[in-house]
Amino acid sequence: MKWAYDFHIHTAASPCGDELMTPHNIVCMSVLKGLDVIAITDHQTVANCEVVMKVGKAHGLRVIPGMEIECSEEFHMIALFPNLDLAYQMEKWLWKYLPSITNQPSIFGTQWRLDEAGECIGEISQLLLVAANISAAEILEQGRRLGAWIYPAHIDRNSYSILSNLGSIPKEYQLSVLEISKSVSLDQYQTMYKNYQIIQSSDAHYLQDISERENYIDSDTLVLHGLIECNP
Ligand SMILES: [Zn+2]
Ligand SMILES: [Zn+2]
Repeated sequence: MKWAYDFHIHTAASPCGDELMTPHNIVCMSVLKGLDVIAITDHQTVANCEVVMKVGKAHGLRVIPGMEIECSEEFHMIALFPNLDLAYQMEKWLWKYLPSITNQPSIFGTQWRLDEAGECIGEISQLLLVAANISAAEILEQGRRLGAWIYPAHIDRNSYSILSNLGSIPKEYQLSVLEISKSVSLDQYQTMYKNYQIIQSSDAHYLQDISERENYIDSDTLVLHGLIECNP
């Protein structure tokens, strides 16, 4: 079965995420757009995954816990987890490598933990817009050990992308999936990177940026990676 997806959506936990990126708003906009499955991917945290999953469940939307990770090479990767427990384990591991810097909301933006009603129930004090002091190779290894589906984000961009920072896709990373932004052509990138599965997601920081019903993934792929339990 083909499912319409968007696997790169920020909540208000990301300092650059709009304050309107609340669980209810994200879920309702995704349903309105006709999506079948989404992933929540805030910078260096999984803080709001659980609450969006709860709201998603109430609205019949599948929500995968995820994270957008910045490695010491300063490019971004998307990690999608089979369950919350593994997502929290990854965050705990990653945070050992985050430089201890307190967020300054007036400069970087607020980092809100939200409840189901979209109320702020606390702020994340650790600045999230920082690279972890650990290499991409080690993050990939740890992510895979925890069963994550992990791949480089927005490879077409000229900042914070694997191509902008390394110039190529290193073979030793043993990647099979690449993410592109929604502004570029899926066909073009699928032709350029024949040996990879190309995922096209929105990187939405604002509600209106969440993907339309235009990118599809085989539900079997998600079952294979343990991201959904069965094929309903
Ligand atoms: Zn990014
Ligand atoms: Zn992002």
